[in-house]
Amino acid sequence: MASKAPIYLDHAATTPCDPRVVEAMLPYFTQKFGNPGSRNHRYGWESEEAVDTARAQVAALLGADEKEIIFTSGATESNNIAIKGGAYMYEKAPAGSASRGHIVTTILEHKAVLDPVKRLMKEGFDATFIEPGPDGIITADLVKAALRPDTILVSVMWANNEIGTINEIPAIGALCHEKDILFHTDATQWAGKMPVNVEKDNVDLLSMSGHKIYGPKGVGALFVRRRRPRVRLQALVDGGGQERGFRPGTLNVTGIVGLGKAAQIAKDEMDKDATRLLALRKHLEQTLVTRLDSCAINGHLEKRLPHITNVSFGFVEGESLMMAVSEIACSSGSACTSASLEPSYVLKGLGVGDELAHSSLRLSLGRWTTKEQVDHAAERIIASVTKLRTLSPLYDMHKEGIDLSKVEWAKH
Ligand code: PMP
Repeated sequence: MASKAPIYLDHAATTPCDPRVVEAMLPYFTQKFGNPGSRNHRYGWESEEAVDTARAQVAALLGADEKEIIFTSGATESNNIAIKGGAYMYEKAPAGSASRGHIVTTILEHKAVLDPVKRLMKEGFDATFIEPGPDGIITADLVKAALRPDTILVSVMWANNEIGTINEIPAIGALCHEKDILFHTDATQWAGKMPVNVEKDNVDLLSMSGHKIYGPKGVGALFVRRRRPRVRLQALVDGGGQERGFRPGTLNVTGIVGLGKAAQIAKDEMDKDATRLLALRKHLEQTLVTRLDSCAINGHLEKRLPHITNVSFGFVEGESLMMAVSEIACSSGSACTSASLEPSYVLKGLGVGDELAHSSLRLSLGRWTTKEQVDHAAERIIASVTKLRTLSPLYDMHKEGIDLSKVEWAKH
């Protein structure tokens, strides 16, 4: 008997394509297959027109001008172009300093930001990685305290992909503008879910991705501000000059059409989706925390995306928990690095201990998640955690009121 498909609660990892997106893309595989760079015939013109439409759709989602949108292969590439391209363009070595310039970012960023910054450090730039408090929020004050006279770039994600916390982006942007420092935000989890206005939000560079907003994988965008200030970037790849030279190469027309359509739908349906998902997420959290003791929601309780929650369950073992909830497709607080399971650096960054990080689940809801699915998932989790705890002597001790932090364990 074929097993039932798991309930998909991993929308922060990726989303299914909206059928309206697929429909918009289809003609561009077979009939309208021209290269938008072909200036001499209809095939080229119609592809170019489709790219222009998508550019307008993405610009409208961000409150940007069409000329400020660069199409890329996804948020990883957008982040690399923004961070490395920005650092190379704005590098300045103050008199007597060996550093090529200072970058401020945070320990909670995705690897697609951390790794470009680490590469820049190997190349002679300095960096500060801000550590938040236990609520996981990066505030403008934290950024302010990290700035130096030689800071050239600040990169802070809009919302965190593991815990959904929302950082103080407009205020951080205002601070950077006041100090003439370039400001990049990785908005992969935010754009398309919550409102963006790059003017009001004081953003210079913004990364986003198609597959997080019910569009296709392998396509994304980078907003590059053209006025007040006009941002310049050094291209990382050389070639045919497409995308104002920032990202040369024949455009992924089908993907771009899909991203554009996904952006348009997101803009139109954002409020409706966010309201529904917030109610569903609160219901899920409420069910878990009222029916299970020793479970905690990670990150700030209010300043969070509507659709993501991250819950730690005490007195269960991480791998057993993941196995027990295999009917639910979700993420754990463990990341596979080479052969071993490492606790999530984001949860560790909030001060969550290794054990508890391993026994955490990220549950992220999406456009087609139903209340029935959420209820079913909650029941599965509650039953699994309860069962696993019957195997835990520590849980028994905890129930008997023994303070486990004071227990002296025998050493072998
Ligand atoms: N940044 C964040 C915050 C993300 O969540 C992701 C995807 N997990 C990325 C960057 C990378 O995006 P992409 O898959 O489009 O390269």
